[in-house]
Amino acid sequence: MIVMKFGGTSVQDSEAIGRVAQIVKGRLTDRPVVVVSAMSKVTDSLLAMGKAAGAGDRKGALKLARALRERHYETAGELLGTALFTEFHSELGADFEDLDELLRGIGAVGEITPRTYDYVAAFGEMLSSKIVAAAFVAHGLPGTHVDSRQCLVTDANYTRAVPQFEETNQRLQKKVKPLLDAAKVPVMGGFIGSTRAGVTTTIGRGGSDFSAAIFGAGLDAERIEIWTDVDGMMTTDPRLCPDARRIKVISFDEAAELAYFGAKVLHPATVLPAIQKNIPVYVLNSLNPTCEGTKITARGPRCTNIFKAIALKKKTTIVDVAAPRRLLVHGYLKSIFDVFNDHEVSVDVVATSEVSVSLTVETNEQIPALASDLAKIADVKYEGRKAIICLVGENLRDTPGMAAKVFGILEDVKIRMISQGASEINLTFVIEEDEAAEVVRRLHREFFAEVDPEVFA
Ligand code: ADP
Ligand code: ASP
Ligand code: MG
Repeated sequence: MIVMKFGGTSVQDSEAIGRVAQIVKGRLTDRPVVVVSAMSKVTDSLLAMGKAAGAGDRKGALKLARALRERHYETAGELLGTALFTEFHSELGADFEDLDELLRGIGAVGEITPRTYDYVAAFGEMLSSKIVAAAFVAHGLPGTHVDSRQCLVTDANYTRAVPQFEETNQRLQKKVKPLLDAAKVPVMGGFIGSTRAGVTTTIGRGGSDFSAAIFGAGLDAERIEIWTDVDGMMTTDPRLCPDARRIKVISFDEAAELAYFGAKVLHPATVLPAIQKNIPVYVLNSLNPTCEGTKITARGPRCTNIFKAIALKKKTTIVDVAAPRRLLVHGYLKSIFDVFNDHEVSVDVVATSEVSVSLTVETNEQIPALASDLAKIADVKYEGRKAIICLVGENLRDTPGMAAKVFGILEDVKIRMISQGASEINLTFVIEEDEAAEVVRRLHREFFAEVDPEVFA
C-alpha cells in the first residue's frame, strides 16, 4: 500500500479536489490511503474564530463560521451534484451546528484553553476529509471516510500533541487495514488525533505531513507521497527565488534539517517514522502530477554541489543570557534550559561563551514571561525580527573552507550567531530578518549557478 497526502492548496476548492480524484485514480493498484489537510486557510480561520469567541466576540466568531460553512457547502455542492449533495448536506450541517454551539459556549465563558483550540481546529481536517471521501465516490472511486481521531492516539499536550505510536499502529491495523483489504480507498484527515480518553488533539501546525508518515509507517507503506503546490523540495523556497531548482533526490537527514530550519514544504517530524521503517518519501506537485518530484531516501547519491538547499526561518528572536562569572558553576546551562523547558519554548540555535549564552527561539507571546523567569538567574536581553539561514548538504562533512566561502560573500552582512550542528551537514547563522531574503538570493546565486544534473533538475 501507499499513503498519498494532499495539502491545503491541493484541496482548496472543487477543482483542486477533482484533480486529487484523478491523481488517486491513477494509483489505485498501489492501494492508497489518502490523507488530507484542511482546505487552504481554513485552520487559520478556525483559530481566529476560537480566539474571537475567547475574547467574548461571539458575533465575530459566528460570522467567520458562516463564511466557512458557505465555502464548504459550495465546494461539496459543486463536487457531488444535487442528489448526492442533498444526502451529504445534513451530515455537514450537523458538524457546522456543533461548531456554532462550541463557539457560543466559548463566547459565553469568554476564555479559550489549548484543549478547546484543538477541538475547534480539528473541524478543518474533519470537514475536508469527509468532502474528499464523498467526492471520490462521486468520481467513481471506492472512497470511504475514516475519522483519524479514532486512529491517531496522542498524549494530552494540546496544540502539539505527541503521537503514541504503538497504540496508533494497533488502531491502524484494526480500522484501516481491513478497508484496504476490501479494496476501499480510506480518506483520513491529517493533523488531528485524540487522547486515549477520546479527547480531540492536534499535532502541531503543518502536521498533516507527519500524520501521513505515521499512517505510512503503521501500515508498512511502500512509499509516502506528499502532494503539494510546488514541484518538490527545491534548492530554496521558490517564492523567494523563482530560479530555485528541483532537488531530484535528497537524504532523510538533509530533508529533516531543511524542514526543521524553515523549508515549509515538509513538516520537520515527517521523516522520523519513514526513517524507522526505511520508507521512501516523495514530494510531488498536484498541479503538475507528471513531474517526478523529490525522492527522500536513506542515502542520496554523490553530488558535485556542496549544498543541496538553503532554508530560511523568519520570526526568530535571539535571547542573550549573561551571568556574572562567579555564577558559572556546574549546572548553570541546565538551569537556563530548564526555564525554556518550563515555558515549553523550544530552542533552535545555541551559541555560548564563558559568560553568556545566546539562543534563538521562534518569536511568540511567551517570551516576556520566559525572559522574566530567566532574569531571576542572569541578565537577559531579547531581540526579535531575526531570521535563521541554514545551508544543508552532506558534502559539508568533508569540504574544508566552506564557512570562509559562505561568509566571504556576506562581508557586509551583520551575522549575529553562527552554528554548525553535530550532524555536520548544516551551516546555520542568524541575521536581521529584513536582510534575509536578499542574503538567501545572494547565496543561491553563488552556490546554485551550476548544478549536478544527477541530483538537481
Ligand atoms: P501544503 O499546504 O501542501 O502542506 P505548504 O504551504 O505547507 O503546502 O508547503 C509548500 C510551500 O513550501 C511551497 O509553496 C513553498 O513556498 C514553500 N517552501 C519553502 N521552502 C521550500 C523548498 N525548499 N522547496 C519547496 N517549497 C518550499
Ligand atoms: N491544517 C493544518 C495547518 O494548517 C495542518 C496541515 O495543513 O498540515 O496547520
Ligand atoms: Mg504543509
